[in-house]
Amino acid sequence: MTLSDRTGAELSADERVYYQRQMVLPEWGEDGQRRLKAARVLVVGAGGLGAPVLQYLGAAGVGRIGIADGDFVEVSNLHRQVIHTMEDLDSPKTTSAAARLRRSNPHVEVVEHMLPVSAANADDLVARYDIVADCTDNFATRDVLHAACFAHGRTLVSGAAQMTEGTVTTFAAFRGGDHPCFRCLYPAPLPPDVTPTCSQVGVAGPVLTVIGGLQAMEVVKEILGVGEGLSGRIVLYDGLSAGFSEIPLARRPQCPCCGTAPAADGRTLAHPPVTGG
Ligand SMILES: [Zn+2]
Repeated sequence: MTLSDRTGAELSADERVYYQRQMVLPEWGEDGQRRLKAARVLVVGAGGLGAPVLQYLGAAGVGRIGIADGDFVEVSNLHRQVIHTMEDLDSPKTTSAAARLRRSNPHVEVVEHMLPVSAANADDLVARYDIVADCTDNFATRDVLHAACFAHGRTLVSGAAQMTEGTVTTFAAFRGGDHPCFRCLYPAPLPPDVTPTCSQVGVAGPVLTVIGGLQAMEVVKEILGVGEGLSGRIVLYDGLSAGFSEIPLARRPQCPCCGTAPAADGRTLAHPPVTGG
């Protein structure tokens, strides 16, 4: 059964009122709302991207939302991580974000995973959810998270932002066919010194909200089974020109990760499996 086949539990009278303005959308409807209620989404990172992703998925009625983050709220986070406030300083980000979601929507279940996602825990974590939002801020965590999603057949909606620019795309190479994976984009790990952090080069808060908003919409679309997903496309946003552009992302025949995945029609891809890398 695919994610969009799940219909979930009946909606209560209170839920019908809460979600009225989105259920009226023809792509959404009551069936869509019940699918959202049945869905389990893991959001990795409760920072600048996680803030809009978590708040919109919570308000939209995703039935179970997992929040994974091992950091504590600091003053220097608050200009962009708008899910946290001065009252949350020194609290775990998971605790602060979860409290905000519960205040916003009592109809959703929020699960706190107060830990940094790593190779030691990613498999266990990802397996407990249907779909994953990558709101992390470093290559190593993205790489580990993608590997777990690929292994468990989970769609990964990935966002990134730095300075005044951001990108969003979806990885679903487990579906086979032409769907590329993270390693099609980055065949080898990037060394830490070529990926500066936001603390080094800065980031504009509104850019994170644009990218996080796009991520939340892509997650909703994946659950509802509507529209055109972002697998095979990367959307780029330039905050200074207020421009969006898009680049295609093709599956690499020699990809070290997805080269052995079966095609969507069940056939094995023509290119040979490649190990290592
Ligand atoms: Zn690949």
